[in-house]
Amino acid sequence: MSKFWSPLVNDLVPYVPGEQPKMANLVKLNTNENPFGPSPKVIEAIQAELNDNLRLYPDPEGEALRQTIADYHKVQPEQVFLGNGSDEVLAHIFYALFQHGEPILFPDVTYSFYPVYCGLYNIEAKPVPLTESFEINPEDYQQPNGGVIFPNPNAPTGRYLPLEQVEAVVQANPDRVVVVDEAYVDFGGESAITLVDKYPNLLVSQTLSKARSLAGLRVGLAIGHKDLIEALNRVKNSFNSYPLDRLALAGARAAYEDEAWFRNCCDRVISERERVTEALENLGFEVLPSKANFVFARDKEQSGETLAKGLREQGIIVRHFNKPRISDFLRITIGTAEQNDALIKGLQSL
Ligand code: PMP
Repeated sequence: MSKFWSPLVNDLVPYVPGEQPKMANLVKLNTNENPFGPSPKVIEAIQAELNDNLRLYPDPEGEALRQTIADYHKVQPEQVFLGNGSDEVLAHIFYALFQHGEPILFPDVTYSFYPVYCGLYNIEAKPVPLTESFEINPEDYQQPNGGVIFPNPNAPTGRYLPLEQVEAVVQANPDRVVVVDEAYVDFGGESAITLVDKYPNLLVSQTLSKARSLAGLRVGLAIGHKDLIEALNRVKNSFNSYPLDRLALAGARAAYEDEAWFRNCCDRVISERERVTEALENLGFEVLPSKANFVFARDKEQSGETLAKGLREQGIIVRHFNKPRISDFLRITIGTAEQNDALIKGLQSL
């Protein structure tokens, strides 16, 4: 704290991201990255972009990438908003669409950035309890609110809400924006983007960090009615009119142009997820059904903290949250077959 700080900075509780350790040879299963890497076409496109144009500002509208994404999802480019990772997209959503003087609803167990943005913008947060089995119940989202947000699949639980139930939440809140954060949708879920032309209050955010294995490039997006996108653009242009640099714009476009690579990565993650789930169950774990690139699991005997520490001593990093309801769980990212074997072996020894 310092006298030079704006007073409101004293009260900020910033987000704490998962550890990015510097040591090599770790089995890193803690931040839901994709172990298979981006398409080689992405690397080629970025290399081709390393040219004299780096001295020029990038396209502030990201027009070519928005067109590519619009074609991919069968919407109009005016329905696509780009940001520096979906975290930045969410920051603009909270600012532009969630400040109505009423609380924002999100699950009590969910992505921990949502309360951080509420704190940043002084928006009241109203966590809505998940059911006993860690599911979202659409009926719980029929109370007065300034907006609704939830990931689908949810994080860190991995549980997926079928599209009809997502639609029920959207229908129950015609005067507020419902944001579906689809960071993990490509690992077996169905996207709500197909519903955006039907509901002007539905906004879907996605990222290239997970299924497209580009967490380091920082590209996120939102798709919805053009009026919602216009609000986000107003905020973006008030902070930073160049959300994506030239390398990110070029790499992201190439990522959408290699569908075969994308599908193959997703399929491999899904089949490894099923194998890891079975192995954990054989070890006596309860594993929540997951449609993400991670599983959320608890042992009947040992605490999450003990297991996370024991794995760490063997060079295997998973995520443990010291939070109500979930402190006995581990969130384990699905890695390569070798990494997953190391995890299973590591747990067997504990
Ligand atoms: N939403 C959810 C649910 C996430 O888990 C993450 C990744 N931590 C993000 C959004 C943000 O991802 P990115 O900023 O890399 O796009």
